[in-house]
Amino acid sequence: MRRYRPYKNKIYICITPKRGVFKQKGPSFFVPAKRIYFYGDSAYNTHMSKERYIAHVDMDAFFAAIEQRDDPGLRGKPVIVGADPKGGKGRGVVSTCSYEARKFGIHSAMPISIAYRKCAHGIFLPVDAEKYSRVSHKMYDILYDFTPEIEPISIDEAFLDISASHHLFGGPQKLCQSIKSRIKDDIGLTASIGLAPTKMAAKIASDLKKPDGFVEVAEENLLDFLRPLDISKLWGLGAKSERLLRGMNINTVGDLAKMDINELEDLFGKNGAHFWNLANGIDEREVETACGAKSVSNEVTFDSDTSDKEKIEGALMLLCEKVSSRLRQDGLKGKTITLKIRLQGFYTFTRAVTVEVPNNFADVLYKEAKRLYNRFDTKGKRVRLVGVRVSNLFPASLQNSLFEKYTDKKIENIHKAVDKIKEKFGDTSIHRATQMEI
Ligand SMILES: [Mg+2]
Repeated sequence: MRRYRPYKNKIYICITPKRGVFKQKGPSFFVPAKRIYFYGDSAYNTHMSKERYIAHVDMDAFFAAIEQRDDPGLRGKPVIVGADPKGGKGRGVVSTCSYEARKFGIHSAMPISIAYRKCAHGIFLPVDAEKYSRVSHKMYDILYDFTPEIEPISIDEAFLDISASHHLFGGPQKLCQSIKSRIKDDIGLTASIGLAPTKMAAKIASDLKKPDGFVEVAEENLLDFLRPLDISKLWGLGAKSERLLRGMNINTVGDLAKMDINELEDLFGKNGAHFWNLANGIDEREVETACGAKSVSNEVTFDSDTSDKEKIEGALMLLCEKVSSRLRQDGLKGKTITLKIRLQGFYTFTRAVTVEVPNNFADVLYKEAKRLYNRFDTKGKRVRLVGVRVSNLFPASLQNSLFEKYTDKKIENIHKAVDKIKEKFGDTSIHRATQMEI
């Protein structure tokens, strides 16, 4: 028998000693629950429920909406943010367009020349990456006020697992409404939210009543919600598989759900079972929070205390290389770079800086670490130890077309190559010119 009990304002899972799990009596047999799942009025008498509440938050026409917010003259007009159309001869694509532009059949990723043909009188604007990323950070700051369990998907889109925090905000629905109003009040933009027991359903739901929408799919309605959807909505189903299924007259998620799982496995191998599960509302995938690790760091103590600037900077470069390499190994990028510096006599200080765009490049880390070091006044004391820590971590896979400039990819590939060589020939095989033996 399992029960939840509030204990000192926290929720603990209580497992009775009869189960033989915990033999002690008293508070020690309350185990803190990482996640709590309960609904109803009382934490007492609630049964273990698998109920999950996943919210998918998606900003509406993000770039175009920011432009319209900042220039009232653009409101109510077809605004197309993306490449320069050059009178219909331009290359490149539409990044985002306003809802007014969508009425002309324009959509994201459409070649800009076609968009121009469809709506030559539209207002074409260049992508202001810096501005949009500033707004994005504000959006994420708001989301983190509601739960730490956030999986960033892109600059304007994220999954939130609110199973454990919704009760603090008056329930899952109220929490979602509060996010919407915070975004409206603090940033002046609208977001659409889908709330569902699974990630796929939440994502589909957020798209249904755009803009400024909120769609909830309750656990008991999940199958009814999925059934009429077109199979193209099913996650991970490629165009080839889709054609194959349509050829068999399987056009909706409901059609697919009724199929024999073995038949699907014959068709698609392991994926067959996965598709069948998704179609039947079985989607256990968790919201993958930014990362398990909170920070990645490295430090070094000098053989003897030193005030040799070149030696200290060389050490910082080496540390940045190591931290950068670890971050890339773990598929992480960070925003906050902290310099730790210990002076003779064991006085330890830290100085930190937070950069706009999360990254894991040794060059960037070094530039910031060096700047922090150069600003630090050692008051004539010698340095005993230096350390570099990167925190405020995000998954490197965060699809963020804005953050990923072409040059970044190039630098990343160089770093990867260096990592490979180091792996093969040891850590000392490749060094930058500024790195020194310490
Ligand atoms: Mg969006």
